[in-house]
Amino acid sequence: MISRPIKSILMAYYLDTDVTYLKGVGPKWGDKLHRLGFRTLKDLVSYYPRTYEDRRHQRKINTLKKGERVYICGEIVNLQKMFRGPGQRIHIMTIKDDTGFLFCRFYRVPYRTYFEKFHVGQKVLAFGIINDFKGRKEIAHPELTLLSEFKEDSFMGLLPIYSEDEELSSKKIHKWILSALTFLEENPDKVNFAEEFEFLPDWVLKKNNLINRYQALKEIHNPDINQVDDYFKYNSAAQKRFIFDEFFQLELYLIFQKMKLKQQEGIKLNSTSILTSKLLQKFPYQLTHDQKNSFQEILKDFASGFPMNRLLQGDVGSGKTAVIFLSMLSAIECGAQAVLMAPTEVLAEQHYQGALKLLSDLGFEIGFLSSKVKSKDKIPILEKIASGKIQFIIGTHALIEESVQFSKLGLVVVDEQHRFGVEQRQKLKSKSQIPHFLMVTATPIPRTLAMTTYGDLDISFLHEKPPGRSPIQTKIVMENQREQLYKFMFEQVQKGRQAFMIFPLVEESEKLPLKDVSQGYKDFSTKYPTIKWGLLHGKMSSDDKQKIMDEFRKNKIQILLSTTVIEVGVDIPNANLIIIEHAERFGLSQLHQLRGRVGRGTLKGFCALLPSLNLSIDGLERLKKLESTTDGLELAEWDLEFRGAGQILGAKQSGVSEFKLANLFRDKKVLEDARSAAIEILTKDPHLHLKIHKKLKLLLDQLQMHKA
Ligand code: ADP
Ligand code: MG
Repeated sequence: MISRPIKSILMAYYLDTDVTYLKGVGPKWGDKLHRLGFRTLKDLVSYYPRTYEDRRHQRKINTLKKGERVYICGEIVNLQKMFRGPGQRIHIMTIKDDTGFLFCRFYRVPYRTYFEKFHVGQKVLAFGIINDFKGRKEIAHPELTLLSEFKEDSFMGLLPIYSEDEELSSKKIHKWILSALTFLEENPDKVNFAEEFEFLPDWVLKKNNLINRYQALKEIHNPDINQVDDYFKYNSAAQKRFIFDEFFQLELYLIFQKMKLKQQEGIKLNSTSILTSKLLQKFPYQLTHDQKNSFQEILKDFASGFPMNRLLQGDVGSGKTAVIFLSMLSAIECGAQAVLMAPTEVLAEQHYQGALKLLSDLGFEIGFLSSKVKSKDKIPILEKIASGKIQFIIGTHALIEESVQFSKLGLVVVDEQHRFGVEQRQKLKSKSQIPHFLMVTATPIPRTLAMTTYGDLDISFLHEKPPGRSPIQTKIVMENQREQLYKFMFEQVQKGRQAFMIFPLVEESEKLPLKDVSQGYKDFSTKYPTIKWGLLHGKMSSDDKQKIMDEFRKNKIQILLSTTVIEVGVDIPNANLIIIEHAERFGLSQLHQLRGRVGRGTLKGFCALLPSLNLSIDGLERLKKLESTTDGLELAEWDLEFRGAGQILGAKQSGVSEFKLANLFRDKKVLEDARSAAIEILTKDPHLHLKIHKKLKLLLDQLQMHKA
């Protein structure tokens, strides 16, 4: 029996062995591996396969059916490179066997020189899923192996495939990983790696049917051929273990953060309801049930003594502004300052005008800050904010500048928070001790994303919309229906309504063959001079933007031609039609936001999606989805399934894209289980002091260091 300290030294010794010492690696490949980030054996064995190849049954081309995962041997008869636009090339390799032809299509290549090794006349093995592309059989992005290379390895089982580059092939990586595993397995000191690799308590493993981590490592690199289907569905015991681990680590971190915040002292705000009841009387409507509820949840946090960290989520037009203003007034009643940050100048200004209209006679000063405010006007505002004279502050990014200091900041609200980066939000928050923090978003978040990206937040939902709204009617309008659409638009304008027309570009571009808003404005205002047209885009000065928005708000402009500067938050209830040019160029959630600019009052809203002439099948599918539902959550779920988390959250925020194996759509259930396990552990042992949680404590410390 080796004593424990010695055992851990030995373990570290084996796991930290430099890859260079591995049989067959040597200094040259060792260098290359180091450059790729593999220093030790542990790094190497922790590199998961990207996919697998089932090499058992070779098939003939004429027997292939759509959707099958197959493996074919054929001769290369043609290699073709097609240009589709700047930076976009498609490679097509045609192969044949004695029964027919198969096309291998690559929209992107694994690495730049990938195709240089293939020549007409060579025999290749192609592995992948059969598509039917306009009636001919093809595989998109198959795994290709030259027959000559294949004979060398003659592997016939379920072969793991790793991401490779021009120098380092998947095959080499696999070979080294296997020899690293053998090296560990055969260590002469009999270190028990099964015990050493494990960090989860036994009961978690049992409850969730998980195998040991070391066992999982061995299996994932050396899969059992009888589990082919499971491996392709990411449902094998080994993959499930690592998927669980990926979720579990994140949840452990998030839940710990959430619990930690609740141990900190917050600013206690006990609402007196003096200002808020005045505001409630001023609203020309009754709050919806959800608005009341969310506001109550916020008040509860204010009074709790710990800092609020809450997300207010409600689809476009659900009435989030009312909840924001009420919350801000509750803070002000208690003598604190409240600040609201918005992502665009247009939206910040709209909030400011709204606040002036509703709140200016309630006995406190309202301030506005954005980059448009001139320096000489800025100084007194900054002074008043610093002295606490201005209590209600609205603005843009300008609020996070160094020069802005508060006297007693009690509440920070970030509207349309998905438009900001994590750091920007944090910066504003860090301007005071620990203020209450309310993030507001109209991007509906599928439950799985809420548990991951926002796992450390409390969430309030506005599920229902204010009464009297009828659903927006959305329609894809083809080129030959354009005149009819304009006729409809002019009819609406005749009736006193207003419309938005959205363009993807500000000015004509040589690179992109798209319509631009400047030309659109010229054309329309010349052709239809009796209509009052307006032009709005991000390159205009703030004052000009403001002037145009004011005129539109007063119906002095009937049709506003704009870029996506009006994407978020803009509220003009009299506008009931939005026309979006080149609609497929925009993301689904962006289109949903744009569409949300209409149907905000009792008027029925219409949204016309005008696709480009070269609309792709994928693009059409997205527009059809938008046509079929106005439910933002349904759209987000759909986007998550087909396009991944980054699409919904924007690249900046999607820490979830760090997952190597886990997938938020496919592995929903595992995520729930991993989160429950993390909650159970931290509820029982909040500081992870128990002996059975020793490794978890280490893991958590590492995570905190890594994420800090
Ligand atoms: P969003 O949730 O998109 O920020 P807003 O707060 O801008 O929505 O509200 C959209 C519109 O609904 C506004 O014109 C607002 O006056 C109106 N509104 C808000 N709450 C109610 C309510 N309870 N009843 C009727 N109309 C409401
Ligand atoms: Mg809003």
